[in-house]
Amino acid sequence: MIYLCIPNNPTGTTLTREQLKVWVDYANRIGAVILYDAAYEAYITQEEVPHSIYEIEGARTCAIEFRSFSKKAGFTGVRLGFTVVPKDLKCGDVALHSLWARRHGTKFNGAPYIEQRAGEAVYSEEGHKQVMEQVAYYKKNARVIYDGLKEAGYSVFGGVNSPYVWLKTDGMDSWEFFDYLLEKAHVVGTPGSGFGPSGEGYFRLTGFGTYENTVKAVERMKRLK
Ligand SMILES: *Cc1c(COP(=O)(O)O)cnc(C)c1O
Repeated sequence: MIYLCIPNNPTGTTLTREQLKVWVDYANRIGAVILYDAAYEAYITQEEVPHSIYEIEGARTCAIEFRSFSKKAGFTGVRLGFTVVPKDLKCGDVALHSLWARRHGTKFNGAPYIEQRAGEAVYSEEGHKQVMEQVAYYKKNARVIYDGLKEAGYSVFGGVNSPYVWLKTDGMDSWEFFDYLLEKAHVVGTPGSGFGPSGEGYFRLTGFGTYENTVKAVERMKRLK
């Protein structure tokens, strides 16, 4: 099993179609299944970044894609998502689609009706418009963080196809930087080490705030440099 979250939480980075094709070819070659977490798909800005793994030839025989409404439409807490298991995806002679259908039909009672109606509204013309305006607002915040901190001399990543900005804590570990930022700038973020050992020495900032507070936080962080 290979888990890919793209655009990525926490780093905000992406893969181009060519780069994702390398993963698809690899999975098909060795018989692995890619679990493709597209929770941040709505935040994609750049043309060369695919919105679904099924844009890549060969993905139907190796990839399961799942989508949450949490980041696209503010369903965090409400909780709704869907999973695509292509019928072409097999393990030996066993189709994973039929295993998933059996599992889901037996153990899951379905999402509450009110949530299904809310999910449906996301795809209406007006709902889509509202949701994408909200996404654009958060993306703008991320861009403000990215541009402002870069200009101030921080090493930053993401912020373009993602609501998150990932930064290097230069000389401090993630939690030291957390305390430093809290005490000196009254700004909070997420220590990278919380995402696993490779996140040590990094820090995640989020665009999921108001524009006014985002600008204020960036100004305070600039003053620390
Ligand atoms: C927020 C998020 C999700 C969505 O989870 P829900 O349980 O649907 O709220 C999925 N994957 C990643 C990487 C996330 O950050």
